[in-house]
Amino acid sequence: MRHSKDQYPDNWNEISKQIKQEARWKCQECNLQFLVEENVTTDPNGKKQTYTVIHLDLNPQNNDRENLKAVCGACHCRLVSKENKHRRIAAQNKDQIFLKI
Ligand SMILES: [Zn+2]
Repeated sequence: MRHSKDQYPDNWNEISKQIKQEARWKCQECNLQFLVEENVTTDPNGKKQTYTVIHLDLNPQNNDRENLKAVCGACHCRLVSKENKHRRIAAQNKDQIFLKI
């Protein structure tokens, strides 16, 4: 099986950056503000959060605009576990869910 990273398109960095720019470097779930071009910030609780782009259907090959959302690490985890629960993805498949900046 291919490594999960390989499922991302070659221009993923550009895609994710564009999504972040469109979101104005804010988490689209909790509105946590990131500095432009910075992928890490500290949330109001003093916790470091990474700015990521999530595939809402957890399929890194589905790069439709509606399937992508710029979110902080905390919201990313929440959305992934929500989706996992929803889809009843087996625990051993969790390694395929990746945090990628
Ligand atoms: Zn968030």
